[in-house]
Amino acid sequence: MSLNQSVLVCDQVNPTLNEILEKNGLKVTYEPEITPEQLAEKIGNFQVVIVRSRTKLVKELIEKADKCQIIARVGVGLDNIDEKAAKEKNIRVINAVEGAMNAVAELVIGLMLSMAREIPRADREVRNGNWIKKELMGRELSGKYLGIVGLGNIGKKLARHAKSFNMNIIGYDVVPIDEEFSKEVGLMKADLDTLLSSSDYVSLHVPLLESTHHMINNEKLKLMKKTACIINTARGGVIDEDALYNSLKEGNLANASLDVFETEPATGNKLITLPNFIATPHIGAQTKEAQSLAANIIAEKIIQILRGVI
Ligand code: NAD
Repeated sequence: MSLNQSVLVCDQVNPTLNEILEKNGLKVTYEPEITPEQLAEKIGNFQVVIVRSRTKLVKELIEKADKCQIIARVGVGLDNIDEKAAKEKNIRVINAVEGAMNAVAELVIGLMLSMAREIPRADREVRNGNWIKKELMGRELSGKYLGIVGLGNIGKKLARHAKSFNMNIIGYDVVPIDEEFSKEVGLMKADLDTLLSSSDYVSLHVPLLESTHHMINNEKLKLMKKTACIINTARGGVIDEDALYNSLKEGNLANASLDVFETEPATGNKLITLPNFIATPHIGAQTKEAQSLAANIIAEKIIQILRGVI
């Protein structure tokens, strides 16, 4: 049976998503550059609204979505959608939880290696005509302690990848961590303070909630080893950036890499003036494979919901 609902796609998505929806009879309007003002005018006409990160579905917009049955995020985090407002209007909010886990976990490995071997600096110096081999005495990941904060989909995937680099894995989560997984990676469970004080690398994989906002603050950074590195590919706001800046500047922490920032784009952020800091522009899920997987997951979920299967 062909579906005939109208779908508004507000951000740039993998073309597979629109193709699958159209094949199933849905009428897709693709507006990847839509402004909040334009969205406010149009949102009332659609049964399904699809976003990635750019579009912020705030309360005022959701209140206008009178025909909407589904809001879909082609990604994991739902912090750009007012879920409470959606619930009040009986709108289902869906995401693609499994889509990005490999992409983000691989990025963390890349950032750890970049810090350990100073790859970005090595590249810059060679381009500038400098052969600074003697200065670039690196460190290996093998045998080091990796503390993972939040052992959900991405945290677990990272643990498995890191294990293949012969790293020792320490884990902290607010929910019990499953025993089979713990055995598989030889996980050492710890509270947050012990994890921070024992790890050579700390990687954050928690959602941004009131309880995780600035969970890594000045007091927590002080617990870390001076030789340690921190990586945040979760959400800006989980680390207090002012506190991180001071720790890196004063040498209380060796290196940090952030893919996510309290304000994005992070051009002009004072952290990027520091030599022991690496920035990437929120590219955690930005791989062809992750985007295609997320598009397929979301298309499938939308069709199943509209057909009344799930
Ligand atoms: P998930 O829901 O599978 O896992 C999150 C884990 O964090 C859960 O196990 C949860 O119990 C735990 N947690 C929640 N509050 C905690 C706390 N206070 N202390 C310790 N643990 C806590 O989510 P996921 O798919 O693994 O994603 C993790 C994060 O990565 C999210 O913030 C998501 O938005 C972000 N993300 C970023 C990108 C990117 O492009 N950089 C891409 C995808 C996901």
